[in-house]
Amino acid sequence: MIKFKSISEWKSYCFSTHERYINNAYFENWIKEKSICIFDYSNLKNEYIKCIKSGIEKAIALIGLHFRVKYPKYKFYDLSQAVEEGNIAGKGILKMVAAERKKRHNRYASIFIVDKPVKSQGAVLNYGEALTYVSEGITIFTFDPLKKYSSKFLRERTMHETFHLLGLNVHHEETKVQGYKQSVPCNMEYNAPSGRLCRKCKDALKSFWKGIEYAIKEQFVENTTH
Ligand SMILES: [Zn+2]
Ligand SMILES: [Zn+2]
Repeated sequence: MIKFKSISEWKSYCFSTHERYINNAYFENWIKEKSICIFDYSNLKNEYIKCIKSGIEKAIALIGLHFRVKYPKYKFYDLSQAVEEGNIAGKGILKMVAAERKKRHNRYASIFIVDKPVKSQGAVLNYGEALTYVSEGITIFTFDPLKKYSSKFLRERTMHETFHLLGLNVHHEETKVQGYKQSVPCNMEYNAPSGRLCRKCKDALKSFWKGIEYAIKEQFVENTTH
């Protein structure tokens, strides 16, 4: 648990968290591209994929960013390149995406939806879980193709992971900031129990993006007076 004595201390901490990403060439590329591409390699129903897309869009809108979410014109990845012993290897996806980016000069963030277990650093993600590489702009969701998911679950799970992708790397429970009510439920609790984002987590994301704007002198978040 990290404790902060005031809201302004929390905001300035979040403002400077971009420093760990900003020197990564690819991070600057994908955020400037302002677009996120969904690569669906699952056998999930179309309506599920739509819920996932709307969760991503809702997360983006809540922070006031203007990133577009789209589907690629055709699926150019061969996911079998990233399969190891029946699992999708996180590292394999990274390698595959890096090679494509070199070849096609694409810069967008990539969200993969798969229906196999995902392996990362020795751990295997369960269905319904996800893995995000912020610097590289890559998120991998895994869902069970045989399971019924509620649209609420899909949207809230997707929002949660999109907030990670958009720079919030601490969960709601991991910080305590004097000045905020401990308002729960919040989408950034570990299990994403709600579609609502508390003020503390929202301020964290806004401050993160203000830090980015300061560092690279480009506007990302729309100005609001309230
Ligand atoms: Zn999380
Ligand atoms: Zn929160």
